[in-house]
Amino acid sequence: MTRRRKPSHSWVYVIWGLNGIAILSLLAFTVLYRTGLHASAAEELIPTARPGETRQIPPTRYYLPTLTPNPFYTPPVFETSTPFVLANGPLPTMIGFSLAGRPIDVYTFGAGEKKYLIVAGIHGGYEGNTIALANELITHINENPGAIPTDVTLYIIRNMNPDGEARDSGVDGRVNNNGVDLNRNFPTDNWAADWDRDGCWIYRPTKGGAYAGSEPETRSVMSFIRSHKIDAMISYHSAALGVFPGGVPWEEPSKRLAKALAKATGYPYPPVDTGCEYTGTLADWAVENGVGASVDMELSNHRYTDFKENLKALQVLFNFQP
Ligand SMILES: [Zn+2]
Repeated sequence: MTRRRKPSHSWVYVIWGLNGIAILSLLAFTVLYRTGLHASAAEELIPTARPGETRQIPPTRYYLPTLTPNPFYTPPVFETSTPFVLANGPLPTMIGFSLAGRPIDVYTFGAGEKKYLIVAGIHGGYEGNTIALANELITHINENPGAIPTDVTLYIIRNMNPDGEARDSGVDGRVNNNGVDLNRNFPTDNWAADWDRDGCWIYRPTKGGAYAGSEPETRSVMSFIRSHKIDAMISYHSAALGVFPGGVPWEEPSKRLAKALAKATGYPYPPVDTGCEYTGTLADWAVENGVGASVDMELSNHRYTDFKENLKALQVLFNFQP
């Protein structure tokens, strides 16, 4: 009898083994999953912590700078159409910027208690010889420090309208970049956006500004004058009409200053009356706002600086008591 080979059952064990592993895996998965559910449920049950009391922070001693850039900031452009730098002399102080970002500078000489101011270039390149005169005066005083008496401080704003100067040296260089006549933009009692042109300058359209004191050039000079107690000032123009006292009507101290300046320089006083009504001028605003005396003074033409005459004018200014 052939021994019948006993059939092998090993495949049964393999299958049951696999089943067992599968069942254990399923159990393990179920247990882990349920534990996970409990855990998340438990998290939901924990009450959300309430915000604590606001902490009192003691005030800081400093105003920390903000990182937010100022959207109205105009980056300075360090150039002028006629670069003016003293080889070895004081640096000017910037008192503001023109619409195009050109600096408006003031030179300071002396440290006396009597304070005088000269403003040139309010009518830009059209009256560019006033800027040239300011440059000559600055250079002269720097080379001759004795020109300033010990009781005097002299401020020279050499170019109040640098954009006008950069634009043109003729009639197109008179206004600022908004088309405003800066000598009609000051917030005087008589400021006007527009005026009767009879007897006035009519070679190009001009205006007094969107409102009194609307232009940055005007505001720079206003803020300088307000922060310095000026005894007397000259606002330079050209050409030929003479010396106009500040004030509406002309104030006595300004008339006295105008007469004395006219006598020293030979410029006409009383000034030539063309019938023009002047509104919003620097000279009028100055006397309405604490300056002892002020004049608009016109050089004899648009070309020359009348340097010698204006050195004499400087002496008059330094001896003037409002
Ligand atoms: Zn002028």
